[in-house]
Amino acid sequence: MSGALDEWVIPRSHPRYHSLVLRERLVEGFEKGLVVPQGLIAHGRGEAFDYILGERTHPFAERAVRAAVAYMLTSRHPVISVNGNMAALAPRELVQLSELTGAPLEVNLFYRSEERVKAIVQHLREHGAEVVLGLGCSKKRLPGLESARGIVCEEGIYSADFVLVGIEDGDRTEALRRAGKVVAAIDLNPFSRTAQKADITIVDEATRALRLAVRLAAEMRGWSRGRLEEVIQSYDNRAVLSEAFKAMLERLSHAASKGVILEP
Ligand code: ATP
Repeated sequence: MSGALDEWVIPRSHPRYHSLVLRERLVEGFEKGLVVPQGLIAHGRGEAFDYILGERTHPFAERAVRAAVAYMLTSRHPVISVNGNMAALAPRELVQLSELTGAPLEVNLFYRSEERVKAIVQHLREHGAEVVLGLGCSKKRLPGLESARGIVCEEGIYSADFVLVGIEDGDRTEALRRAGKVVAAIDLNPFSRTAQKADITIVDEATRALRLAVRLAAEMRGWSRGRLEEVIQSYDNRAVLSEAFKAMLERLSHAASKGVILEP
């Protein structure tokens, strides 16, 4: 462990404290074998978009999270797909969301190895997960994803009608959609293929989005099915994506005309 989370190294008063904490979690995840080097690079791409968004959850992201939670609470078989970055960044939130919605966690990796799946399952267990799919399940293949990338659990993603993914590449989202699943994706980059292809695109940092999802799931699980279905029916992902681009444009055009950024 690098130990940089120690306040002496990253003081809470540091203006980039939250961002540095996330980096530190990823570095620790890398050292524990959860995160691959490519995951560290992917995080950097996300950080750049988060900077433009002002590192906060916008109302359009909250609408998307609400719709995703409504799906999780009404679907026949919802599943939360977990990769190394998600597990390293927000293990507790993933476990809580799974408990509140009844959607199991399944470890599903782009760079798959049994050791990595094992390390991620172990990490989620350490954070309170009782059941994590990914090891020892009956394996099936998602059509259209070559080699080990397409391996999923029969009782998990393979038979799911709704899948929540985060920090993923576009191929997987497309393969899940082609297999007839409703896909919600957490992705800070609204230009990405994932963001463009998902049914619900949550343009927000994964840790913030998952924390919000936990809060909303605790509230919404007391709602009637009719009320949850209304949330789903009134949801418009094109409008949400358009607002995400507009939010970026507003901050960029303010900066372009004044030479200073808008404080969030
Ligand atoms: P696509 O194939 O969908 O076009 P990509 O090639 O960018 O996307 P990856 O390299 O796997 O796919 O990157 C993962 C995505 O996750 C990137 O779009 C990045 O902006 C986003 N991302 C990275 N870290 C986070 C985070 N902490 N929270 C939310 N999104 C993130």
